[in-house]
Amino acid sequence: MIENILEPGSTLGVLGGGQLGAMFAGAAHRMGYRVAVWDADPEAPAHRIATHSFTAPFTDLGVRDQFAGIADAVTLEWENVPAELCEWLEGHRPMRPSGAVLRILQDRLEQKQYLSSRQLPVAAFALVESVPQLISAIDRLGLPAVCKTAKSGYDGKGQWLLRDTTDIREVEQLLENAKPGHRWILEQFIEYVRELSVLVVRNESGVYCVYPVVENRHELGILRESRVPASISLDVAEKSANLSIQAVAALQGVGVFCVELFQAQDGSLLINEIAPRPHNSGHYTLDVCTVSQFEQQVRVTCGLPLGETRLLCPAVMVNLIGEEVRSVTSRDGAYALHSTSGAAVHLYGKRIRPGRKMGHVTFTAPEALAAEELAHRFIKRIQRPA
Ligand code: ATP
Ligand code: MG
Repeated sequence: MIENILEPGSTLGVLGGGQLGAMFAGAAHRMGYRVAVWDADPEAPAHRIATHSFTAPFTDLGVRDQFAGIADAVTLEWENVPAELCEWLEGHRPMRPSGAVLRILQDRLEQKQYLSSRQLPVAAFALVESVPQLISAIDRLGLPAVCKTAKSGYDGKGQWLLRDTTDIREVEQLLENAKPGHRWILEQFIEYVRELSVLVVRNESGVYCVYPVVENRHELGILRESRVPASISLDVAEKSANLSIQAVAALQGVGVFCVELFQAQDGSLLINEIAPRPHNSGHYTLDVCTVSQFEQQVRVTCGLPLGETRLLCPAVMVNLIGEEVRSVTSRDGAYALHSTSGAAVHLYGKRIRPGRKMGHVTFTAPEALAAEELAHRFIKRIQRPA
């Protein structure tokens, strides 16, 4: 409804100030909005481009009131924001996604239970809170299996792959030493053929749009590269998109969602997890789509019409992880990268830490194969031991 649109000049609040928040703020500024960023870390990248910055913890009630006073609508870039804060905020301002959706998605067990209760396919799973529960879950699901903390994991952190009894021992120790109330999920390990992801944007009226299916490759639990379009049949692409749309609709999600999928060996698709925000695997949209995932986040937060999701050319996105970033910030590295036509670099301006996502490069070309070749040559270069 046109009367509910927040017009340019309004202030959009974002909970979390990492690179996703910074990219959201960039899109918002371009479209004429002001941005209030709330992240306790004063060095969080989005603070640098915020109109208003808040660096108190999310539990600070005074800042909560100020933030709600300044922001005309609120979104988030991180799913580990306290759900109760979102629930309170949505009593005062439009909050997209809602606290209720966040509550489901920020807990791996709640999420899998929700999806499977709606007949949406996920890997077999079990709740684990103690050693006997772990043993009976392994009896039921078999090995290999993956044990994950129910909350707060990212980039493969807080996950243990169980292949044999030695691995089981390690997780048993973890359970024995854990704080009371800590929950884990044990999941059947899926021998997938490929990992896919689909961005779905859905507004309050249930109108949605969907981006092309992306194919992802992880290394040591961290996303290494994403290519689009995925090298899958039209049938699998259609099924992936439909399943993702169905999942976001089942959640009654309003906002930008990324549905991560496994394509199993028998061709079937399983939902790995759903992020209630733009996603690393959707960064290509900044360079090869007319409307990026961040612009969609602005649009859906403001009640504007959703944008088109057309892919202008094939792309492969490569993450710069930890020290790898030096290979593009050194003089030689910067020169080499900027001499490559079709390479778009994005640096997040964070302190280097091992395993941390420091930036990404999107390689584009008229043909998928050419983009892939550029990306793979680049990966070889950045992974060369110093
Ligand atoms: P991210 O932050 O990259 O989304 P995450 O820490 O939230 O990751 P997951 O997406 O659950 O966690 O897992 C990270 C990666 O580990 C997956 O993309 C996949 O490669 C692998 N993985 C996770 N669960 C399974 C499983 N059940 N079977 C096989 N591989 C798995
Ligand atoms: Mg994931």
